[in-house]
Amino acid sequence: MESTIVVSARGADRIQDGHFWVYRGDVADGRAEPGTVVRVNAPNGRFLARAFYSDRSQITLRILTRHDVPVDRAFWRSRIEHAIAFRERLEIDASAYRLVHGEGDLIPSLVIDRYGDYISLQALSQGTDRLLPEVTALLVELVGPKGIIARNDPRVRLLEGLEQNVTVLHGEIPDKVAVREGKVEYDVDLRHGQKTGAFLDQRENRIAAAQYVSGRTLDCFSYAGGFALQLAPHVTELTALDISDDATALLAQNAARNGFSNVQVRTTNVFDELRTLERMGEAFDSIVLDPPAFAKSKTAIDKAISGYKEINLRALKLLRPGGFLITCSCSYHVNEGMFGELILDAALDARVDVSVVEKRMQGRDHPVVLGMPETYYLKCFVLRKLA
Ligand code: SAH
Repeated sequence: MESTIVVSARGADRIQDGHFWVYRGDVADGRAEPGTVVRVNAPNGRFLARAFYSDRSQITLRILTRHDVPVDRAFWRSRIEHAIAFRERLEIDASAYRLVHGEGDLIPSLVIDRYGDYISLQALSQGTDRLLPEVTALLVELVGPKGIIARNDPRVRLLEGLEQNVTVLHGEIPDKVAVREGKVEYDVDLRHGQKTGAFLDQRENRIAAAQYVSGRTLDCFSYAGGFALQLAPHVTELTALDISDDATALLAQNAARNGFSNVQVRTTNVFDELRTLERMGEAFDSIVLDPPAFAKSKTAIDKAISGYKEINLRALKLLRPGGFLITCSCSYHVNEGMFGELILDAALDARVDVSVVEKRMQGRDHPVVLGMPETYYLKCFVLRKLA
């Protein structure tokens, strides 16, 4: 029997305004088994939606459909088929990309990434965790991968009362999977790599960045070389900086594998290194800043803004006139407007004039939902330092 949850008037408004989450405070009545699909009613008893129910998270309901249709195997098959068809439409020139991006594909809290013949996924709520056997069977049927791994190690799972684990759900997962992105090939470690293995959301921004860079180039927060490997063929000299030894070691291997002899890696803290480079009077023609999310929560916003401002300020100083700064933020708490403002502050402090060449966002395989600002998390501005 399907359980019914009644939401408050405010919860009903939220659903009708196109949002996918209802918080605990907006639930008026009803309980259900953790992770089950429930019927959501307005205070007057009218049907509003079907949703995943969580008995632990502050996000009690995650909307699945605003139509009164059964949520069964055919429903999930259709959702996954639509997600796959959309990626085919994009004609992605890479073997690694996102197949399912949660709310952006109407499957809240499920992430499915494709790495060539392999799939790496994350179930980030009780609902999708419970759905995993069904999702696995559908992926085997619709995609036919050699292996599927669940990278269910993100901390957010704790908020759902779920454990953190990494499990092979189907077939086999090799220690390294080779993927292609444009003309570049690189190895991904699906068991230990960041997120599901790599940062696929920057794929289109990396390709876009390649057309601006030249000469002496700095890639800050390089990880395994997402930007560095795309940019290397277009520049004379590229220095990649990351604080993690594992990341820089993997980057060096990936550079060698592609025959790039102009790439240097340095394991270092970018904040310190940018100051050192400035003190030494170094200059660059292009700089990439792709830091981790400095603001993981609302309360951390002020500190995050000063961190972003600091690195942008240093980078603008190190840049030669006419040079390009490709600067990113993946904190959704720092929205596009705030990001633009803090870069302007940095430019004013650095006493430089800057023009905006492009304002970009996460790749199209990570769709933003119009009614849900939280889904627009990645900003990537291409800026030019005016002479
Ligand atoms: N640009 C990469 C993704 C970057 S993820 C790509 O396109 O694939 C952010 C990276 O920043 C991580 O690899 C992390 O190790 C690194 N990092 C975090 N804090 C750092 C710091 N203070 N200095 C240098 N690197 C840092």
